[in-house]
Amino acid sequence: MEVCPVCRGEGFLPTFRPLEGGPPRLPLLGLWDPAELWDECPACEGTGRVPGEPLAHPDPWEQALEGRTEEEAQELGEWVAAYRRLRREARLAPEEAARGADLEVFGPLLF
Ligand SMILES: [Zn+2]
Repeated sequence: MEVCPVCRGEGFLPTFRPLEGGPPRLPLLGLWDPAELWDECPACEGTGRVPGEPLAHPDPWEQALEGRTEEEAQELGEWVAAYRRLRREARLAPEEAARGADLEVFGPLLF
């Protein structure tokens, strides 16, 4: 299994729900706004992994996972999930969400 090239292994894609209704669609580049939603990635069905050959050009997510143990990769996944949740549900700023995710996954003794 390889990292999904569509969502970069995250399992979710940002989408917009058009005000006039209709199915969610990908946001236009550069148009990030509070209406942003995360939907399950259609390519990997939310798993972040697809069967296939390694990418010719490894993406940052893949590089972040490289050389890590399963446990570390798992933690990284949890961190991303926590970060996403804090950003989406608690509406924290990116730095605050990152701090919250650190606390949640690694505990307060890291720093
Ligand atoms: Zn995907």
